[in-house]
Amino acid sequence: MEKPDTSIQTLFDAQKNAVVSRRRFFDYAARRTALDALQAKILAEEDAICAALAADFGKHRSEVMLTEIMPVLVEITHARKHLKRWMRPKRAASGLAFLGTSTKVHPTSKGVALVIAPWNFPFNLAIGPVVSALAAGCSVILKPSELTPATTKLINRMISDIYPPDLVTVVEGGVDVATQLLALPFDHIFFTGSPEVGQIVMKAASKTLATVTLELGGKSPVIVGPDANIKNAARWIAWGRFVNGGQTCVATDHVFVHESVRDAFVTALTAQVEKMYGRNPLSSKDLAQMAHSGQWSRIADLISDAREKGATVLIGGQTDEVTRKVAPTILLDVHDDMEVQQTEIFGPILPIMQYGDLGEVIAKINAAPHPLALYIFGSNKLAGDVISQTTSGNVGVNMSVMVFAHPSAPFGGVGRSGNGGAHGYAGFAAFSHMRQVLRARFFPFHIAFPPYTKMTRRVTKIFHKIVRL
Ligand code: NAD
Repeated sequence: MEKPDTSIQTLFDAQKNAVVSRRRFFDYAARRTALDALQAKILAEEDAICAALAADFGKHRSEVMLTEIMPVLVEITHARKHLKRWMRPKRAASGLAFLGTSTKVHPTSKGVALVIAPWNFPFNLAIGPVVSALAAGCSVILKPSELTPATTKLINRMISDIYPPDLVTVVEGGVDVATQLLALPFDHIFFTGSPEVGQIVMKAASKTLATVTLELGGKSPVIVGPDANIKNAARWIAWGRFVNGGQTCVATDHVFVHESVRDAFVTALTAQVEKMYGRNPLSSKDLAQMAHSGQWSRIADLISDAREKGATVLIGGQTDEVTRKVAPTILLDVHDDMEVQQTEIFGPILPIMQYGDLGEVIAKINAAPHPLALYIFGSNKLAGDVISQTTSGNVGVNMSVMVFAHPSAPFGGVGRSGNGGAHGYAGFAAFSHMRQVLRARFFPFHIAFPPYTKMTRRVTKIFHKIVRL
């Protein structure tokens, strides 16, 4: 692995050294101060954040507010409200086997954390984990994506305006910089990005034995059951697919719709997309661009491949290389040999497949890597059946995407879609070590120490009974 250049090494050393003194004073008040400063800074820079996101990929101000700024503000508000309780040592029941002891679990800051962020929600996914790290009392080196230069530059300025570099610092750069950072012995690495790079991160972490949270991606399937509210399903599925230009980790990737409601669903979906982006979506200000030209050509290629292999383009299909826009595209007659079925689409394309037998859909979902999200539209009975027979990072019932933003429940993948939880307490816990403090009051366990005698055998017999009580 590449050796870090001296400036990166210096930043890391400064944070490591600061941790030694901070351990004594990075208490509740200091963490609150750090979170307060971030909240105030974000509120003061909202216009700049919206402008940066518009420059990077033409995101509408409302979409920036809803998907980049507000989720981070929710995180900060939630952490500020609950931090005191989160930090408090929690009593652990002793049980008969540990009679005479008292045990507490002390959430302890892990130390120095590395956060590596992707380009698709470049503000939210960079700053969100920083909130959790600060709540946990960690210092952070943050590497935002190199593919959203305006947002990355802004994040760098905002962070350096409010924090000393030995608390939070931004390192700009691409793969080479990320590789250098990954060679350093961080205490925790929080990575958001593709499963392929997740593997690289995990491999690097195995050298330093850093703990890792991997927030990865994949194909998140949608089931629309025969008893679904079709209008509601069309609304959430269209938004879940086309918000952010389709470049969303928990996007509604592809749909299995029951044959009895297939026509009604397709009609409602088409109407919903037209309502959201008009008849000429390429000129809609509400539709985000593809974030970079490589991404634009990848999406254009996915549409061509599907067309060539016999898919029907129900709506959309138009692309504009200059504006890097792709019209919301709905595909019918999709087969497994098409690229859209083999890769996380991560763009404004929505394949629709119909089903008759739910068991076949469940078997298909279970044969693929565990998805980051699984969406079910229909009755509680349908949802219950699907939930009990599948695995996924998260489940949304009669809604989409917002599973990402809930502050009180862990958000995270499983298997190829990631590991570990983010947001709220789960985020705090990711950057904390849950340290056991076991205090002996009257704990006569020493009667079982060597030399092993008849007496020990008797005592062991009694213990053997106790541990089964
Ligand atoms: P990516 O994995 O290409 O890049 C993410 C980050 O890793 C960037 O900062 C990049 O500079 C760095 N990186 C890239 N190659 C690297 C390498 N070889 N070594 C070390 N670092 C490297 O991901 P992306 O294209 O920016 O984002 C898209 C992916 O992220 C999708 O799969 C999406 O589903 C996933 N994602 C997941 C979540 C989540 O919360 N689970 C959120 C957003 C995106």
